Amino acid sequence: MRKHRILAMALLLPLGLLGAFGCAVGADAAEEAGESSLYVEKVDGLPKDFILGMDASSVIAEEDSGVKYYGFDGRERDVFATLADSGITHIRVRVWNHPYDADGNGYGGGNNDIDKAVQIGRRAAQYGMKLIVDFHYSDFWADPAKQMVPLEWADMDIAEKSEALYAFTRESLEKLNEAGAAVGMVQLGNETTGALCGETDWDNILTLMASGSRAVRETCPEALVAVHFTNPERGGAYADYARRLDEFGLDYDVFATSYYPYWHGTLENLSSVLGQVAGTYGKKVMVMETSYAYTAEDSDFSGNTIGDGGGVVKNYPYTVQGQANEVRDVIDTVARIENGIGVVYWEGTWISVGGSTRAENAALWEEYGSGWASSYAAVYDPDDAGRYYGGCAVDNQAFFDPQGRPLESLRVFGLVRTGNDGPVVPDAAEDVTMTADVSGEIALPETVSAIMTDNSRQEVPVQWELDDALLEQMRTGGAKTYEITGRAGDLTARCFVDMVVSDLLVNGGFEDGDVGWTATDLANADELYVEDKQSDSLTGTKHFHFWSAAANSVEFTLEQTVEGLPAGRYAYSVSIMGGDCGESEIYAYVKLDGETAATAPMTITSYGEWDTASIGDIEAAEGQSLTVGVYVKCAGAGGGAWGKIDDARLDPVA
Ligand code: CA
Repeated sequence: MRKHRILAMALLLPLGLLGAFGCAVGADAAEEAGESSLYVEKVDGLPKDFILGMDASSVIAEEDSGVKYYGFDGRERDVFATLADSGITHIRVRVWNHPYDADGNGYGGGNNDIDKAVQIGRRAAQYGMKLIVDFHYSDFWADPAKQMVPLEWADMDIAEKSEALYAFTRESLEKLNEAGAAVGMVQLGNETTGALCGETDWDNILTLMASGSRAVRETCPEALVAVHFTNPERGGAYADYARRLDEFGLDYDVFATSYYPYWHGTLENLSSVLGQVAGTYGKKVMVMETSYAYTAEDSDFSGNTIGDGGGVVKNYPYTVQGQANEVRDVIDTVARIENGIGVVYWEGTWISVGGSTRAENAALWEEYGSGWASSYAAVYDPDDAGRYYGGCAVDNQAFFDPQGRPLESLRVFGLVRTGNDGPVVPDAAEDVTMTADVSGEIALPETVSAIMTDNSRQEVPVQWELDDALLEQMRTGGAKTYEITGRAGDLTARCFVDMVVSDLLVNGGFEDGDVGWTATDLANADELYVEDKQSDSLTGTKHFHFWSAAANSVEFTLEQTVEGLPAGRYAYSVSIMGGDCGESEIYAYVKLDGETAATAPMTITSYGEWDTASIGDIEAAEGQSLTVGVYVKCAGAGGGAWGKIDDARLDPVA
């Protein structure tokens, strides 16, 4: 780290290599030869029959809404042809029982009933791709948050529901068979993490799954039967599910999981939990859903699941190459697991329906069901879809741009088999986050980490756009976060600076014991000391503790004096909890040169009820000593008064 305003430095990398991939020298020639500029490390030992799937459930609703898909040559083309050419072997499609209201208006999310699946299955088969049928056994979205029973089955007991599920599965698969779809796998529910079809009792869940399984075996004997869960990062969950399935004796072949890398833990953990199921029960395992953003931008006026905000793990940049690397690494991970049979990408064909305003888009979502939910879904799912209905939340994770042109990253599905020597060049700059004190130096880093196309990192010099006006604003604006843009070669860098107002006390949270503090016992209490007990601390593991058995034996001050402060305004706060104090007199105080300048009353009531006193706007002159403290007196009760004091702070006020 060093001070801001880095002078331009000679770039360490040859300028010719700094362009984004695709702009690299020779890209045109490569394109003519049908080659890719994508960097793809070969996945060793990938079985020939490894499933490389694409959930394309929304395609029909998209096309109905006017979306056109193009091939790599720029000409309009059946999207299923482009997927097949790119290495996709299986198309996945969700099936809802009846995603329509009484007037026939679709709930959205593709309005994916069995008729949609028939159309998609037929087209997939036309290009040699098999179908993975994803029965939700619901009229609309089923996931860990909800597994609502189809309306028609709502009043059935478990035996009736089980029979209805069997019949529905059978009839649906027969329709697919008749249409010429090549059903390769059938799921018994979607992300059935502890619920299915309105049932939360495992015996009932497994009874329903068994009915589904029987229908698949009878109708599509060649197809694999899959169960599908999510949240592989939850310790012990998959081992528990697999054990339950085994003890019940469910007839299934594939234990599948969703794996969204920004939520679902590490690839090592994924490998470990799937490997445990494969190794213990001899089941095939796979990733049934994964996806990654190629851009932070939204293209359809409907917010996306992941974007520029925080709160997610971002192991790859949101670039076309980053998206390809994520897919490659998930494939590599599953391929290395014993009995790892495949990876399916979720909804890589779901893009903006193309209107230039939200209203134009919304009209298409409503009419054709091309958004995640329409307003009509309110009759079935009033609390979620009925309130938040809208467009596509994953358009920035698709493999087609908003105009329907395939991204270079789509080729990863074919290229994992051979590898591809795309240039290893900077692809994006890693965001920097740092904190700086309003009263100290604001020193931005002189280099940033460039994420290379092979996902390795390289430090590159950066020049930040930080002028005196912005610096002044940061120093005087109090606690706030600023985003500073920088240039690192051809890359745009970002530094998020959290300006903090520093605590001037020593050991204000008592984590260093009584360092800095003076306790003065005025009535001979039994216990007055810093206690190490996390459950009784407001933050950290320690706090100042008091207790005394006899009545009227608690009276003390706890204080700290700060010397040498510059003239200015200051604010003090401190927190307390406790009980059994009778007629207590408790207050926080501030003294200037030993004279009380301000107090603020505090009360203690019962365990866990912290009371925070704040004294703002203390004016201190140059050279004045400033003392902050707490006075506690408990009188009149029978004895046993106790309490905890924690998190004292003294901050300069801007
Ligand atoms: Ca969107």
